[in-house]
Amino acid sequence: MPKRILTGDRPTSPLHLGHYVGSLQNRVRLQDEYDTFILIADIQALTDNFERPEMLEANVFEVTLDYLAVGVDPHKAKIVVQSMVPELTELTIYFMNLVTVATLERNPTLKEEIKQRNFTKGIPVGFWSYPISQAADITIFKADLVPVGEDQLPMIEQTREIVRRFNRLYKKILIEPRALLGKVARLPGTDGGAKMSKSVGNCIYLGDSPEQVRQRVMSMFTDPTRIHPTDPGHVEGNPVFTYHDVFNPDKAEVEDLKDRYRKGTVGDVEVKERLVKALTDFLDPIRARRAEFAAKPQLVREIINEGTRQGRALAQQTMDEVRSAMKIKYALD
Ligand code: ATP
Ligand code: MG
Repeated sequence: MPKRILTGDRPTSPLHLGHYVGSLQNRVRLQDEYDTFILIADIQALTDNFERPEMLEANVFEVTLDYLAVGVDPHKAKIVVQSMVPELTELTIYFMNLVTVATLERNPTLKEEIKQRNFTKGIPVGFWSYPISQAADITIFKADLVPVGEDQLPMIEQTREIVRRFNRLYKKILIEPRALLGKVARLPGTDGGAKMSKSVGNCIYLGDSPEQVRQRVMSMFTDPTRIHPTDPGHVEGNPVFTYHDVFNPDKAEVEDLKDRYRKGTVGDVEVKERLVKALTDFLDPIRARRAEFAAKPQLVREIINEGTRQGRALAQQTMDEVRSAMKIKYALD
């Protein structure tokens, strides 16, 4: 049996460069080797967007386009819509008994995200408990490996704890998954913030036009201590150079720019112009493939339906085992 991958994204907006380096790149690289399931986590997206559920449908489509655009092959990887697999909610409920309130309250990513979201009417239980539903997502597919960005490590750890508890209490049927970090574990935002994130709006999207890329790069944060182009500048922690390191294949050019930046002999504008070029070269083929699929919405819907059908069949099989293990497999007659 080939090993299995489960990973996914919240359909809160189209995907960005952070998703690419954090997770998408690994999914594409490993899809031949692993039986791959990619979950579009619309139920999880609802936990902080429940007042605007109508935005999910379009974003499920957009996120699928991003997958196909970066090279996810629907013949190899199954794209599954979370809300169309009701077994996931059942497993989530069973898992809720295996986690304490105190454990959730200690989760550092959750704490950070709650702070960032500034919930004015209190923290919704759905949001606060999403690590549990995410554990159900991963385990229902019996995933061995979960390609994710660094912010998701506490979620994988939580999943492993739940699996160990379940297996000890009931029967050893679930798999303890491992996280796989991307080439860049956490890509900073264009505002210099620690993480490029849809909810913050500091992103360069995979579907951005060259004009949008230019606009976003030109307004990027650089070195706040540098006032004039002749001032010696800082390269470390400067998001423009972080992006150069990741996306500019011309390493000699990057080294030259860094060298001149440190000496104060190159301005921000030139460094940014070169980055626009590197990013545009990187995104051009992705945008072209995205447009090809966008022109065939029926095909995209079939891909989602077929992936979801296969995902649901696997989820039903696992739930059958879960109910047996928990001795709650009553038969209706
Ligand atoms: P939201 O703000 O809506 O939570 P997000 O940008 O955090 O959006 P998610 O859908 O929550 O995106 O994350 C999907 C996957 O992409 C996760 O594995 C996450 O770790 C990874 N990821 C997201 N942003 C980055 C980033 N800036 N760097 C590396 N990985 C990232
Ligand atoms: Mg997120």
